[in-house]
Amino acid sequence: MNWEETPDERDFRHEVRAFARERFPVGYGPDPEAEHSLEPEDVWGYDWPADRLSRDPARRAGARAWAAALAERGWIAPGWPVEYGGAGLSAMREFILREEMMRAGVPTVNGIGAMLLGPTLLEYGTEEQRAAHLPGIARGETTWAQGFSEPGAGSDLASLRTRAVCAGPGSGSYLVNGQKVWTSSAQYADWLFVLVRTDPEAPKHKGITFLLIDASSPGVAIRPVQDMRGATPFAEIFFDDVSVPVANRVGAENQGWYVAMAALGFERAGIGATVKFEQVLSRLVGCLRSEKEPGCPGRDTAVLRHEIAQRYIELRTQYNLARHTASQLEAVGIPGHEASVSQLFGAELHQRLARTGAKAFGPYAQLWQRDGAPMEAAFAHMRFDAVAATLLGGTTEIQRRVIATRGLKLPKS
Ligand SMILES: Cc1cc2nc3c(=O)[nH]c(=O)nc-3n(C[C@H](O)[C@H](O)[C@H](O)COP(=O)(O)OP(=O)(O)OC[C@H]3O[C@@H](n4cnc5c(N)ncnc54)[C@H](O)[C@@H]3O)c2cc1C
Repeated sequence: MNWEETPDERDFRHEVRAFARERFPVGYGPDPEAEHSLEPEDVWGYDWPADRLSRDPARRAGARAWAAALAERGWIAPGWPVEYGGAGLSAMREFILREEMMRAGVPTVNGIGAMLLGPTLLEYGTEEQRAAHLPGIARGETTWAQGFSEPGAGSDLASLRTRAVCAGPGSGSYLVNGQKVWTSSAQYADWLFVLVRTDPEAPKHKGITFLLIDASSPGVAIRPVQDMRGATPFAEIFFDDVSVPVANRVGAENQGWYVAMAALGFERAGIGATVKFEQVLSRLVGCLRSEKEPGCPGRDTAVLRHEIAQRYIELRTQYNLARHTASQLEAVGIPGHEASVSQLFGAELHQRLARTGAKAFGPYAQLWQRDGAPMEAAFAHMRFDAVAATLLGGTTEIQRRVIATRGLKLPKS
């Protein structure tokens, strides 16, 4: 790949910066009470799906105005064709756009719909499905959640048990029963894309179907799940005789596994948290230099300095991995095992960075409340998030298997 930015790409970068400066709604600031997001593409202090439905009218208006501003340019779903509300940008321009938005500290809008479901429908959906669902996502009007994981099916996703059966001869619909868990932002979603078992007799990968389910359908119950700190970034979903039109099936019956694998590939292809991490490391260095923060027992040790330098090098590596993934995507249209390399490196870097912060602040790093804690407890929260980093979007062990078998072509164990 060419690592040099073209003059056009540089101009585009400036255009995005100017847009974020000029169009981000006044008054839509980070919520000081919000828990740090667990999703790599999210900017700390914002939770756009929740903000869009917030009880605070100013917050709600800010989230909607930001979505409308981005939608004007097709920048909620920048890589999609213009006819569906996208901007038809190349993967590299999309990368630049997302990078600059993160540098500007403004939230991603409709990430799950735009980055996961949209590309999947463009690849596997029918024309009717694209026309029905893509424009709403691109305008920031309909939000989606990804219902794959179940209590007994995470890494071993193919053992999922949520069932869909034909509702009766000529009914044109399925009846869905079962449970999903860890579904990020499901409590704010209008629609769900879900994997269901349609043939219990078939080998487990072969009897699965990919369905689009209206979250307001009778029989759907969504209950937020609380994490250790009391936040509710995800939910569990129960399906009790939920009727889903056959027209909402993506791909053929029993072929949903292959559709889902494409969706997971898109999930791993983002720029991820690189920019977010760079910002937190710069803040750490600024803070250690300032002498104003409470308790920096390790501030002058050679070990800490060495470790911070190491993290900077790793962040540049992570940035280049994400850029390389974007260039692969541009070249071949779908993300390959490079996306797993990028995700794996990023997740482990997240944990190393959290440990560096903990070393810098010693016992103060454990202060949980923002008042009085160094860097408003950013590292306490980061250490918490870092646990999930090596799980969400596929665990590190699973990423290693993808790299080994698809990237290095090693035999499956
Ligand atoms: C913050 C967060 C957000 C999430 N959001 C969503 C979402 O929006 N939608 C969704 O569908 N899911 C979501 N998930 C679920 C996520 O995809 C699963 O947590 C993940 O796939 C791991 O599954 P599990 O939790 O069941 O762990 P398990 O699969 O039970 O794994 C437990 C441990 O065993 C290891 N292990 C398992 N199998 C193997 C193997 N074959 N070889 C080696 N080691 C193995 C794992 O690596 C892990 O360390 C989210 C999870 C988190 C933490």
